[in-house]
Amino acid sequence: MNVQGDAKEKNTFDAIVIGSGITGGWAAKELCDHGLKTLVIERGRPVKHLDDYPTATLDPWDFKLRGRVTANEHRDNPVLSRCYAYEEATKHFFVKDAEHPYVQEKPFDWIRGYQEGGKSLLWARQTQRWSHFDFEAPARDGFAAPWPVTYDELAPWYSHVEKFIGISGNRDGLETLPDCESLPPWEMNCVEKHIQEKIKLHYPDRYPVIGRCAHLTEPKEIHLSQGRGKCQARTLCDRGCPYGGYFSSNSSTLPWAVKTGNLTMRTNAVVHSIIYDDKKGKASGVRIVDANSKEEVEYFARIIFVNAACLNSNLILLNSTSSRFPNGLGNDNGLLGKYVAFHNYRGNVYAGFEGYKDQYYQGRRPTAIMMPSFRNVHKQETDFLRGYMVFYTAARAGWNRSTSSIGADLKSEVANPGEWQIFMMMQGETIPKESNRVYLSTDKKDAWGIPLLTTSVDYDDNDIKSLKDFQEQAKGMLDVAGCKNIVAHDTGQAPGLDIHEMGGVRMGKDPKTSLLNKWNQFHNCKNVFVTDGAAMVSTGNQNPSLTFMAFTARAASYAVDQMKKGNL
Ligand SMILES: Cc1cc2nc3c(=O)[nH]c(=O)nc-3n(C[C@H](O)[C@H](O)[C@H](O)COP(=O)(O)OP(=O)(O)OC[C@H]3O[C@@H](n4cnc5c(N)ncnc54)[C@H](O)[C@@H]3O)c2cc1C
Ligand code: SF4
Repeated sequence: MNVQGDAKEKNTFDAIVIGSGITGGWAAKELCDHGLKTLVIERGRPVKHLDDYPTATLDPWDFKLRGRVTANEHRDNPVLSRCYAYEEATKHFFVKDAEHPYVQEKPFDWIRGYQEGGKSLLWARQTQRWSHFDFEAPARDGFAAPWPVTYDELAPWYSHVEKFIGISGNRDGLETLPDCESLPPWEMNCVEKHIQEKIKLHYPDRYPVIGRCAHLTEPKEIHLSQGRGKCQARTLCDRGCPYGGYFSSNSSTLPWAVKTGNLTMRTNAVVHSIIYDDKKGKASGVRIVDANSKEEVEYFARIIFVNAACLNSNLILLNSTSSRFPNGLGNDNGLLGKYVAFHNYRGNVYAGFEGYKDQYYQGRRPTAIMMPSFRNVHKQETDFLRGYMVFYTAARAGWNRSTSSIGADLKSEVANPGEWQIFMMMQGETIPKESNRVYLSTDKKDAWGIPLLTTSVDYDDNDIKSLKDFQEQAKGMLDVAGCKNIVAHDTGQAPGLDIHEMGGVRMGKDPKTSLLNKWNQFHNCKNVFVTDGAAMVSTGNQNPSLTFMAFTARAASYAVDQMKKGNL
């Protein structure tokens, strides 16, 4: 191992961040801004903004398969193929099933992006704040551990993140969906507005609003200084955006951190484990395996931020064993890897709409209509716990609806837009349970000698009741809006495909029932912070990444403060 003398000095930093995705990028930016010499360790290859987006400006006819992947690729990647965003234009940003195996004790679709920037290149960029109801829920309703943080404590950090990344949306004044620092909103089309009005008329507790998303509808100085520009409404985002119109680590936080002169990026380095120093009673560094040469190297730092994305953070921590922590770092109570939860995406509803045939819309809007949860908000009202956010869109059927394949008939069919079609879906909160867990395989290892992760995560009765309630309510709402041919579906999809996995290293006030304190810091290993989804106590029903970023910025500020006081 390269840990002797000069090598050790060369490999020593103030801070190490594991992972360069949405949360790792934020940790890097904040720590570098505070003057810390920071090493970001990323298992994937370098992906530089603009230079490494090979498909960003291609037209449909430039793709050999017109955007599709081959039958062989589908066959070889059954898990990945279920992700809507996996296609010819984006496939280079996704992890292939066979290259990075895991053990599914119960079906779990684990969708990953192993490269500089992680899934920040691929995400759908929907960003809503949690409300105080969400932070209070576990204590009020008696599930999970109580949150050690309130909405009011996190609110300034939401603002801090929102101003930097840029979020479009209205200030809607809703208690269930707190206002954010917003750029001008996208517009609803006529049918979406019509449905919004009818829902508000019939259901006084339901508030459909235009979606909030991390797109620059009107860039401000802070965005221009990142080298980013206005979004062009193309929705080709998951190829990487040549305008920097949406937030990704690659276009925003990482180049910002580079400019401070404090960032060192080590790509192609698979973190094996965190090194715990028994004598010092704290973590001293990180052990990596070079992704290509398989050489083992150690890096050292005063503080370590774990941001490998929820399940990989769990994996690294479970694999970080020492005489002090034989069952994984910080795992005195045996709860590491437990209480993993996700979002319930099983319900969706399709409908048609007659009317507004003389109206259309402009551009490809990168968001939908969103309606914050209206179930069990103020008190328990249904036979299931918590609720769901609802999304819907209305669009006119396109050219691919055509039944004629050639000639004048085809021309005349595609010359006019088709009927209005409505799509509505749920994003349901699931209840974290001890039995929903991940753990290390005892006999299977990956190509880098690291034990495979085993997933044992499933739905429960609560999820099924919530799904049925959504289907009934969605049908009712579309009915009062005058929609036709309303059909509800259960996608039956496995957990994981929501790509919102959370938990396993949860925060809490009590070290007996949680791993991390209110600063995302291990109760019993103070110089290690976990600030990605793994730290979440419950899941809320909002898209989670904005909350992960806010926690990351807050924890980084706390860590720097503690270092200055000599506590770390
Ligand atoms: C198609 C899609 C749509 C989505 N839509 C939304 C949305 O609309 N809104 C929303 O809030 N969220 C959305 N998400 C989820 C969002 O992408 C994640 O919540 C977010 O990226 C999590 O940030 P992270 O930093 O924890 O993980 P990531 O962004 O995945 O970054 C983790 C990084 O860690 C690296 N890493 C992993 N293991 C190791 C290791 N052992 N050593 C070194 N490096 C390692 C990975 O290579 C990766 O670069 C979506 C995701 C996808 C794929
Ligand atoms: S929609 Fe906006 S952010 Fe997405 S690729 Fe187009 S310009 Fe970029």
